Parts: sequence; C-alpha cells; structure tokens
Amino acid sequence: MEWETVIGLEIHAQLKTRSKIFSGASTAYGAEPNTQACTVDLGLPGVLPVLNKEVVRMATKFGLAIGAEVARKSVFARKNYFYPDLPKGYQISQFELPVVKAGTLTITLDDGETKVIGVTRAHLEEDAGKSLHEDFHGMTGIDLNRAGTPLLEIVSEPDMRSAREAVAYMRKIHSLVQYLDICDGNMQEGSFRCDANVSVRPKGQEAFGTRTEIKNINSFRFVERAINYEVQRQIDLIEDGGEVVQETRLYDPDRNETRSMRSKEEANDYRYFPDPDLLPLVIEPEFIEQVKKEMPELPDEKKARFESEHGLSSYDANVLIASRATADYFEAVVAELGGEAKLVANWMNGELAARLNRDAIEIEQAPVSADAFAGLLRRIVDNTISGKIAKEVFDAMWNGEGSADEIIDSRGLKQITDSGAIEAIIDNVIANNPSQVEQYRGGQAKLLGYFVGQVMKATQGKANPAQVNQILKQKLDS
Ligand code: ADP
Ligand code: MG
Repeated sequence: MEWETVIGLEIHAQLKTRSKIFSGASTAYGAEPNTQACTVDLGLPGVLPVLNKEVVRMATKFGLAIGAEVARKSVFARKNYFYPDLPKGYQISQFELPVVKAGTLTITLDDGETKVIGVTRAHLEEDAGKSLHEDFHGMTGIDLNRAGTPLLEIVSEPDMRSAREAVAYMRKIHSLVQYLDICDGNMQEGSFRCDANVSVRPKGQEAFGTRTEIKNINSFRFVERAINYEVQRQIDLIEDGGEVVQETRLYDPDRNETRSMRSKEEANDYRYFPDPDLLPLVIEPEFIEQVKKEMPELPDEKKARFESEHGLSSYDANVLIASRATADYFEAVVAELGGEAKLVANWMNGELAARLNRDAIEIEQAPVSADAFAGLLRRIVDNTISGKIAKEVFDAMWNGEGSADEIIDSRGLKQITDSGAIEAIIDNVIANNPSQVEQYRGGQAKLLGYFVGQVMKATQGKANPAQVNQILKQKLDS
C-alpha cells in the first residue's frame, strides 16, 4: 500500500516588542528569574490588562504580507487551564475571531519547484511562564519573566505532503517574520517554535487520517526528523492492524522518537469565552493603510528584483534572499563594487556559505564584513589575484589576518602580469620539455593544459592565467 503524508503546522512567533502584550514589563531575554514580571503578569487580583498597540501593528504587517484580510474586529478570549506557570489560571488568546484571517504563502523546494500553502489564520496571545525542573531537587522553580510575552500563532492548512515541504514552509515563515522585523527568529531562545500535526492516508483517498500533534519543536532539523519518525510510526501501526489515536506527542531529539503526552480523552476542555477585561480589538482602515506604507520589500519581491536588476538565476536569487541579513550583505557588496553581481553571488553561495556552514554561524557573525569582502572581490576583478589565490586570501581574512590588500602584500600574492616576466618563465618551460613540445606540435592540442600547469607551478599560481594561455599559444604555435 502507498501512503500519503498530510501535515499542518502551528507556528508560535514571539513578537519583538519591548514591553509585554498586556503590561509594561520588559520582554528582554535572559534576566534574573521573576525580575521582569509585574502585577499583571503575576495575575494579582484587581489588576487589568491593557493591550500594547505595537502588537497590533505587527500582526497587521504579517496579515498584509500573506495577502490576508486583517479583521476589522477581533476578540480576546480566555483559554482556561491550570498550570503552575500560569498564575491567572487562563491564557489570554484569540479564538473565534482572530486578528488575521486566511492568507497564502508560496514555498520553494530544493529542486526549484514552488507550491502555495494556505494559512488558515493568525492570532495574538500571551505566552506563559517557565517551569524550571533542573536547578531544584524535588521541587520546581517558576520563572514568570516570559509570562505575558506577545506571541503570534500562525496556523496553516493541512496542505503539506512531506517533511521537506513542512521545513520549507517553516523556513519561509521564519524568513518572513524577520523581513517584517516583527520577530527575532531566535530558535534557541524559543522565539520561534512550532507544533506539527501529522497524519497519513492511503494514496488516492480523499478523507484525512487521524492526526497526532507533536508539540514545541524548536529547530528545522528536529521538525524534519520528528515528522519522518511520526509518519513511519503511524504507517507501521496501521499496517499491523492498529489505529492511530488523536493525541499530543513530544519529540525526543536524543532518541529520535516521539512519545505520547496526552490523548484526546485527557485533553483539556479550555472553556473559551471572551475576556470581559478587554474590549474587542477594532482596527480602522486608516491604520491598515498606514502600516501598508511602512511595509519593507518582501522576500518574493526581492527575489524578482535580484533576477531582473542584477541578472541572477532563480536559484542564486533564492539562496540570497533566504534571510534578510544575507540579502543586505549581497547588496552592500554589489554597491561597493559597483556591479559584478554574478561574481558576488557565486562567492557568497560558494566560499562564504561553506565557511558559515563549517563554523555553524550566521552571516551576521561572519568575521569578514561586506566591505572587506568587496575588497577581496575587487582584487579578482582588477586581476591583482586569481580566483584560486583569492580563496587563500579569504581564509586568511576569515582568520582575522587583515584586509585583502594587507594579506596580498604581506604574503606576496600579487599576480604576475608583467608579460616580459611571464614570457621568460614560458621560454624556460618550453626549453625544459622538448618531448611535450614535439607532441603538442604534432597535433596533441590537449597538452596546452600541461604547459599552463608548469608555468603556474613555477610562479606558485601567481601568473595571470589569461596572459599565460595567450603567450603560450603564441610561442608553441609559431
Ligand atoms: P486544534 O484547534 O485542535 O489544534 P485545528 O483544526 O485548528 O485543531 O488544526 C490545527 C492544525 O492541524 C492545523 O494546522 C491544521 O492544518 C492541522 N490539521 C488538521 N487536521 C489534520 C490532519 N488530519 N492531518 C494533519 N494535519 C491536520
Ligand atoms: Mg492545536
């Protein structure tokens, strides 16, 4: 039997406001426990929440970016459950009337294929506090600094058909919220995490199978692994005559498996109802118009512009727009060089990407700035060094040995372009290889490469390759 996977994601993006969604307490990460929780976040009696206008602006930006309708009126609701890190006994969220209605997002897969994924809705809510189990013996610590931090929960349609598509979708949302400057995207700190809903059905069947929900996955790699594990588990279960039960599961990255957390029967009845402490959120059309004017260039627009304005291939453009920081770096280098977009793209997607990958860092942490990188590429463009020598110079720059020009100088890597000097070396090579010269002149044109190699060896790779080729040909053919 052939099976088809069905996936829908619920992504939580922490909004980048300075203060919380319903209080003035700071949202800065990493403070001493319970130093950034005020009476509202602590849920003390008699206090009232006041909505932070900035979160409305951010949610509106997101809605516009996915082509969704931003609701004229949405409502905050109480989601009731008991947990020690939720002192009020309920989380303020949105239920029946979310602030962002349905929209779409186009994802690009590795092979360049694109697919449109439906976004069902996005709603505003507050985060809960954190329970700290590790630092205490036989006790649990409660840190309420995170309580009341604003979240945008983005719910997708069950439109994805593989773990690969789910990761592409998650990456696209991750990139989009950073372009919009509404979320810092920091997954280690939990600013961006997702719940994956997974089911399988026999290929060709229309009705969906029973789904399970894998909670709180905070890396792209884990999402892919967790889904693949869960799909196989469900298929094995059904093929062995069993049935998938709707439940919440946890992914354990150390053992690469998912484990049951609670079944539907044990699921909470949240008893949602409109929060009487908060008025409905009404957004005026003028507000939306104003936000429209503040919208930055979005990834898809940027990609189209990189292709038309800089003449890049769709593949190159797609890699360069994956993060806003990468796109900015590219444009800074091209501006500095006054062009050479293709060369810049090749070097960024090749040498630069390889070093970032090796050191497991993001472009923001790269030890070579856009300016310094332009300084290196300039020396390829003006023939001071060959592309091959440039890689050596780039390594030295990466290790903090100075600018491209300083390294070229101190290591004596300047390309030899003095044709007199190159001629002398070529004469020498020709004189030392009489039998190869005879074979070449006898019709073995391929041997030209051998002579080029000899000249390069004699000059430690510093002779200008174009000149070497030209002078060699001239001398050998005469
Ligand atoms: P809930 O509110 O209980 O979490 P929803 O119906 O809102 O349930 O769905 C939550 C997520 O689950 C959505 O992203 C949706 O696309 C996805 N989903 C729903 N049904 C399925 C299914 N059969 N297989 C996979 N994903 C599903
Ligand atoms: Mg859910």
